[in-house]
Amino acid sequence: MSASSPLSSDHQASLIDGKGFAASLRAQIRDDVRTFHDQYGVTPGLAVILVGNDPASEVYVRNKAIQTHHAGMRSFMHMLPETTSETELLALIERLNNDPEIHGILVQLPLPKGLDARRVTNAIRPEKDVDGLGETNAGRLAIGLPGLVPCTPLGCLLLLKDQLGDMHGQHAVVIGASNLVGKPLALLLLAEGCTVSIAHIHTRDTAALARQADILVVATGVRELVRGDWIKPGATVIDVGITRVTLENGKTRLVGDVVFNEAVKVAGRITPVPGGVGPMTIACLLKNTLTAARLLVTGKPE
Ligand code: NAD
Repeated sequence: MSASSPLSSDHQASLIDGKGFAASLRAQIRDDVRTFHDQYGVTPGLAVILVGNDPASEVYVRNKAIQTHHAGMRSFMHMLPETTSETELLALIERLNNDPEIHGILVQLPLPKGLDARRVTNAIRPEKDVDGLGETNAGRLAIGLPGLVPCTPLGCLLLLKDQLGDMHGQHAVVIGASNLVGKPLALLLLAEGCTVSIAHIHTRDTAALARQADILVVATGVRELVRGDWIKPGATVIDVGITRVTLENGKTRLVGDVVFNEAVKVAGRITPVPGGVGPMTIACLLKNTLTAARLLVTGKPE
């Protein structure tokens, strides 16, 4: 269906199955890790550092370790106390930077107060910066050079390429301009030949801008910000937002940045929450760890 064709009253967008796509990507990575090991005798290793005991971060970090093992890579967890000084943390990163068994280093954010996330992230050697958040990789992305790209935007891009193929000339609107998601994704879409608009908290009429989008990506953390009438009929919608809400019965559920029940009647394709972008993030971390290992061992990313 073209993005401008009228929709029937019983229209339902097709769901973009991030969970299934991430599972096949992880299976592909597992095969590639085996081949890489056969070729070079090296098993990629990922070090994850968690400072403090934020319960949500502990869950994320454990999931990353489990998935790393499943992909046939080595996982090294460093759980540091809340009282860790920046000097101690930087010393650990330096040790990991020089450890030949470690190909990827990730510091789980947010860090406790008193630790400077920018200084800490930048201390990771660019070739091992699998979160792609250091200045070298961010700069390489900005000027169109290959490098390690932040995992969530990379996951969004892979889903979009799988769904749409060639995106040249499409108008992509990215709502949210963080260094973690919105900005790198806008640059990735620009590199794909999209015309890119970025909306943020100060944008005057975000809804009007969103209505022009062939591809609409929403990454604000504002629960159900985007209504059905913000979406151009037939557009592809990627909902990055995740907010955990507590229901009346005390149970919790995850909600995205898009009013799903409205959007599904207008969009051509849409990611659900959960099961859309979320599973792609860890899969892309594994992908980046293998890319980093290749870079370090062979000097080439592919
Ligand atoms: P952030 O808070 O760093 O940035 C939010 C951005 O949204 C900012 O640029 C801000 O200007 C913009 N914004 C806020 N309110 C807005 C509004 N009303 N209209 C337009 N723009 C607005 O958040 P982030 O780290 O980029 O994360 C965004 C969301 O994505 C969060 O819900 C987060 O949980 C989720 N997230 C999901 C994954 C995943 O794996 N699926 C990964 C990272 C982040």
